[in-house]
Amino acid sequence: MIEIVSPTRCTGCNICVQACPTHVFDAVPGGIPVIARQDDCQTCFMCELYCPADALYVAPVADGPVATAEHEAIVQQWMGSYRSAIGWGKGRRSTAAQDASFELLRRAH
Ligand code: SF4
Ligand code: SF4
Repeated sequence: MIEIVSPTRCTGCNICVQACPTHVFDAVPGGIPVIARQDDCQTCFMCELYCPADALYVAPVADGPVATAEHEAIVQQWMGSYRSAIGWGKGRRSTAAQDASFELLRRAH
């Protein structure tokens, strides 16, 4: 579930507002988006994937909110970690080859 929009990282581009399929965010004129409908989050990670500033944290727990402090998410390098694993962003590469399920699939074919 979406937990954090980082006020220290967010540039206010509103890409996440457009990317979210369930309209969780509200754009704020002159500001950064707010998580307006957290209960509607489907934990799909699309917002985190598309955020160019690694300013979002989506917790992998889909059942309900988990209290997460921004500084903890930054220290643990959680913010943008899904985007990083997929390989989106300058200088990044997909980590799919390190995934055991990827290897099983390769051997099956
Ligand atoms: S996509 Fe990222 S940088 Fe852009 S408004 Fe959303 S959180 Fe902020
Ligand atoms: S994880 Fe998916 S449903 Fe949840 S806020 Fe991000 S884009 Fe929207």
